[in-house]
Amino acid sequence: AGCKPAPVQQQFTGSIMGTSYHVSVIMPSDDSAERDKIAQGIHQTLVDIDLKMSTYKPESELSRFNRAQPDEWFAVSDKTAQVVREALSISQLSGGAFDVTVGPLVNLWGFGPDHRPSRTPSEAMLAEAFQRVGYQAVQARLADPLQTPETALLKSKAVYIDLSAIAKGYAVDQVADYLTAQQLNQFMVEVGGEIRVKGLKPDGKPWRIAIEKPISDGQVVQSVIGVTDISIATSGSYRNYFEFEGQRYSHTIDPKTGRPITHKLASVTVLHPNSSTADALATTLMVLGPEAGFNFAQQHQLAVYMLVKSDRGFDELQTSEFKALVR
Ligand code: ADP
Repeated sequence: AGCKPAPVQQQFTGSIMGTSYHVSVIMPSDDSAERDKIAQGIHQTLVDIDLKMSTYKPESELSRFNRAQPDEWFAVSDKTAQVVREALSISQLSGGAFDVTVGPLVNLWGFGPDHRPSRTPSEAMLAEAFQRVGYQAVQARLADPLQTPETALLKSKAVYIDLSAIAKGYAVDQVADYLTAQQLNQFMVEVGGEIRVKGLKPDGKPWRIAIEKPISDGQVVQSVIGVTDISIATSGSYRNYFEFEGQRYSHTIDPKTGRPITHKLASVTVLHPNSSTADALATTLMVLGPEAGFNFAQQHQLAVYMLVKSDRGFDELQTSEFKALVR
């Protein structure tokens, strides 16, 4: 009698956005009704984002916008407009290395909702796809009671928006916001490899996050970092690729060439307060490659860790901001 319930670490897992999620939350007690409520809340938060932003769902807001006529504002939810806005700002920041309209090129190389190609695309096919690429053709506005009546997207030509490189990160942020609103302040949220941690583990230590060795067979840990109150995103050229006639093709496309990247950056990890930003920046750096990417990271004071393929295995590169954040 008179015992205070002890905090427990609860696990919530499931499938969403063609991938899985794992959420670990320190809860005040093992109350099962409370646990069910949080499980529901997490899942609903993720389902909502998937329904709005998936390019694999023909009736998502994004798919309907992709089919809509150019030159007309198309009403969407605040969430979709926010993610498109952030994607556009990273497209600008990176001078187009990150391009939220790269979808037609991604599909051409067989990584989107369309099927895998049986051969590499011809110059003519690339030129045709390029006509539908260019983030400069997209605008996102948020409703402003004095000026614009509704939140909406606009395209000045028939582009195709693909949020694959940012939506999972955004989903992580939304789950983190949901948990915080429930007064839960110690958690680890992971959706398809994008991670955000808050507070400390029950033992008072930082969360420990493994960075994988960038090899295609098996999961081997390269290094483990201790972090708190931050998001962690890793982009790698080592897992999601296809092979054709002995050549490996990455799912990261350089919008300048229209082709998969070919440099020696095997994986890049970005730490940032927002998971959506970390997610998009990881893809940006993966496009830029080891040299231009590391320069970009230094210029923008980003916390970045890179593994670059060498004769000996992998070389580690890290910015001072990264070193300062990890324990
Ligand atoms: P990773 O974990 O390797 O970063 P993601 O799923 O987060 O993988 O992002 C890869 C996806 O990003 C690709 O499947 C493609 O849809 C999209 N993508 C590829 N190249 C670019 C690019 N240059 N800019 C924006 N998105 C891209």
